[in-house]
Amino acid sequence: MQSANSTGRRILVFCASSGSCEPHFHDAAEALGREIARAGHTIVYGGGAVGSMGAVAGGALSEGGEVVGIIPRFMRELEWAHPGLSELRLVDDMQQRKRDMLATSDAIVTLPGGSGTFEELFEAITSKRLGLFPNPIVILNQRGFYDPLFELLESSVSERFMNEAHLEMWHSVERVAQVLPAIDAAAHWPDDAVEFATL
Ligand code: AMP
Repeated sequence: MQSANSTGRRILVFCASSGSCEPHFHDAAEALGREIARAGHTIVYGGGAVGSMGAVAGGALSEGGEVVGIIPRFMRELEWAHPGLSELRLVDDMQQRKRDMLATSDAIVTLPGGSGTFEELFEAITSKRLGLFPNPIVILNQRGFYDPLFELLESSVSERFMNEAHLEMWHSVERVAQVLPAIDAAAHWPDDAVEFATL
């Protein structure tokens, strides 16, 4: 796992493959890609060419940024992979992709998306809860998209399925400009997180 330097981070972005959502979601993804590249960080993502995935990669590449895509072979065969990335890593399946993405990053940003984005976010949160992934997780709650998710997670705490400390595993921001400062400000996640993984 990479160390969490404030410059030259590898920032893993989870976001939507949909090309049909409102254009402001793609605009935010592109703006985030530009900001990450301008700040000198590398983007790691799922390697897709469409939707917010294509937009975040395109934004970073347009600023001369480094973008690493990690994609299962079957998606490459379907021609879903972005053709212009700095590096494209082919993996056997979705499970290996998630493992490699987490191992290659030192911070995560999650944008609005669908089931694939949720799955990736929850794998990261669950790994963090178990002390297997200590790095910052920032969620872009664009136009309140993630409000229902935060409500559900808070219910999980109030019903004592999770510990109140687990609410510190992620940080919610509303605007793209707040993403990198939130990563820099994130407190170190305890090394002994597994000790309070269960109540
Ligand atoms: P979603 O948020 O449901 O659009 O899922 C985004 C995730 O779904 C990606 O990280 C991939 O795991 C997968 N995915 C779905 N469609 C594509 C695509 N056309 N290209 C690349 N990845 C895709």
